[in-house]
Order: sequence, then structure tokens, then C-alpha cells
Amino acid sequence: MRMNLRTPALISILVLLALGTVRADVIVLRDGRSLEGKIIKETDETLTLRLKYGEVEISKSHIIEIRRGLTALDKYKKKAAKVENTAQAHYELGQWCAGKELREEAKKHYGKALEIDPSFSLAGKALGYEKAGGKWLPPDEAKKARGLVKFEGKWIPKEERDARLAERDGKKQEEFRKEYGVGPAFFVSKRKNFILVCNLPEKKRKELIEAAGALYAAHSERFKELFVKGRNWPLVIFAFSNREEYREWVKKEGLEKAVDCFGFYSGRKQRAYLFEGASPDVVHMLLHEFTHQIYVERMMERGARSNAWIFEGFAEFFEGHDIKDGRLGKSKPHITNRYTAKNAAKEGKLIPIEKMIAADQISELFGGEYSAQECYIAYAQAWAMVYYLLEGDGGKHRTKFMRFMKKDLRGEGTPEEFKRIFGSDLDKFQNRLKRFLKGLK
Ligand SMILES: [Zn+2]
Repeated sequence: MRMNLRTPALISILVLLALGTVRADVIVLRDGRSLEGKIIKETDETLTLRLKYGEVEISKSHIIEIRRGLTALDKYKKKAAKVENTAQAHYELGQWCAGKELREEAKKHYGKALEIDPSFSLAGKALGYEKAGGKWLPPDEAKKARGLVKFEGKWIPKEERDARLAERDGKKQEEFRKEYGVGPAFFVSKRKNFILVCNLPEKKRKELIEAAGALYAAHSERFKELFVKGRNWPLVIFAFSNREEYREWVKKEGLEKAVDCFGFYSGRKQRAYLFEGASPDVVHMLLHEFTHQIYVERMMERGARSNAWIFEGFAEFFEGHDIKDGRLGKSKPHITNRYTAKNAAKEGKLIPIEKMIAADQISELFGGEYSAQECYIAYAQAWAMVYYLLEGDGGKHRTKFMRFMKKDLRGEGTPEEFKRIFGSDLDKFQNRLKRFLKGLK
């Protein structure tokens, strides 16, 4: 609605319309009446006022006085003049400013809040800061305070930068190769938490390093409370360019059991072995075996035995992830496991839960025949159980799963413990699992 204010009659209508508005600007007209609204446009000749029910353009010749209401900035100045000098009060004023689009002022008061209390999280978060050593700091400063340095565009620990520089040094590589007994085709990448010994092309090697870093970070964030303190030796991973090399190597290390496997983790040797050309690809193979390795070497009590379903299910769960920008992507159903488990559920071929939770070795579930359908079902069902307990029903079983995992890591994940935590009616559990599988897209 747009009008041209010309006749006194129209003015009186508008005055009526303006009643009840609570806008701050007041225009006093030549005939003594006034209009309240918000000035939204002003030229040399006219002024446009927004009223409750529309806009009017008023010729300035009709106006004798313009009383401008308080702007947000005016109000801010009043508030700022009497703000209490506490972190909370400055933070609240910052919030008020942000709500009025006064961004600079908002930042200023969040900053004040942090000056008073450097650990004041609300202000730190509002500024997009990061916490380091109990203080909220601008992101780059926080990273420096955490001992990180910028290297090739990324913030990494100083030790890691030094290690990366060292591994580029031919002499150092020579030393590293000797240390692991590998030939000149191999490259040894030493990182803070793992060491990759591999003869794959540089591009693949970088993918593996990225995946290992992402997986390690995900575990230490999500399962922080399960990590045993003081276990900080780097986890050693071998990756070969084909299956033959892999077989020859594990045989040489005396790992007969590993020869026919598609990837292996040896707790005795404290090493994981992978190769290119298996299904799934070597990156997902790493996610699987490296998960075993983290489980055993970082979380598990020495000498304890894990349950097959949780040990394998956990590895399969992480195997099903993708890596994006150096981070583990959102978990999504592992494609082949989802297919196998859904089908098994439909055809009534799922393994009884009683049997699943009693197995020490996954091979007990399928008679050791790794190409049998039962083998695929055993892995897929282990995956399904872990996936269900970690993420099913909106994540409501996660706490119980963590409780069971703590037991499992001490070798106390017995069937009795399973029933105590998840309920003694195992058929009911199986039915809930079936329903979960049915609903998986
Ligand atoms: Zn495994």
C-alpha cells in the first residue's frame, strides 16, 4: 500500500490508522496532528513512513517536526553505559547486540566477557573461538597453544611435522627400511599414532595415511573413556601392493593363520597387514584391521579375550565408513553387510543370539569355512548388532553398549553379562534386530 498524502481528510484517516502503533519515529504535521511509525526512506522533498497498516509518503512541506525514536545504536549506548562488569553481563549484552545486528559491538562484549573470564564458554563459542589450556582463543592461537604448527596448509603436531620432514630424507628412509626389514620399494611413514610401512604408489599411500589418521581421531573422540592411559606407542601397519606379497610376508613372520585371510591383525606381533586388490579396497581394509588394532593395543586389558561378535562387528562397523577431508564420514550402512543381514533376516537364516554372544572366535559361527554363506552372515550379523546398539533407535542403546564394551575389554563380556545389560529375553533382542534391519535403507 502506498499513498500520496495530500488532503487533510486522508491525513485524519492515517492518523487513526497510526494509533496503536508503537513505532519509535514521530512526525508532527503542520496542522498539529502527528503520525507514529518508522521512517524507512527520506529524500529532500519527501519522507516515507511505515505505519502499522501500510506506508505513506509525506511531502516535507506538511511536516513541522520529525522526532526520531531511539535507534538500536542509541539503545545500545544506554545499555553499555550501565552494564555490570561481569562476564555474564557482557555476554548477555553481546547477545542483545547480535540480535540487533550490531555485530562489532557484540564481538566487543564477548571479548570483554573473555577478558574477565577466559574460560567463559558461551562467549568463546559465540566468537567461534577454540579452547586450549582452559582458555578460549581465536582458532589459530588456540592451535598454537596446543602445540600445533601449520604444515602444508594443515595444523599438525610439531613432532609430526618433524617426522614428516625426516621421512623425506633419503638417509632416514634407509634407516626406517632397515628397522622394518623391507626392501627399497617400501616407504615408511611415521606418524604420532601409527607407522605405515608400504610399497603402494604415493597416492594410495596418502589415502591410507589419511584414513588411519581419521579413524584414530574418531576412536579417540568417540571412545575416549575406553582408552587406557599411557599406551602411546605407534601402531604398525604393513600394506602390500598385491596378495602374493602379503602372503609371502605373513608366512615369513610365522602367521600361518593369516595366509588365506583378506587382511589380518596380529595381537602377538602388534601389527596389521593389508594388501591392494582385495575386496573391499585397501582403504576399507585398513579401517577394519586398524580398528582391531586400536581395540587391542589402546583399549583392551592385557591378556583379555574379546567376544567375536563385538570384536568383528566393531571392525565391520568402521569399515563401512567413508573418509572425507581427513575425517571419518557419517556412518552409513555397510552395503554388503546390510544386504547380507537383511536377506538372512528375511529368510530366517540369522544366527541365534545365544550362539552369537557365546562365540570367542568368529570362525566358531561358520565352521571355519571363510567362503561359506554362513561366514558372510556371521560377519554381517556381528556388524548389524554393533550398528544397532551404537546407532539404532536414535542411539538410545549406546550407553548400554558402552557398558558392555567396558566389560568386553576386560574379558568379562560373558553371555550372562550380555543378558544382564540388554535383557534376558534373547528372542526379543533378535526380533528388535530384525525390525531394525528391515527398516534399513
Ligand atoms: Zn576382523
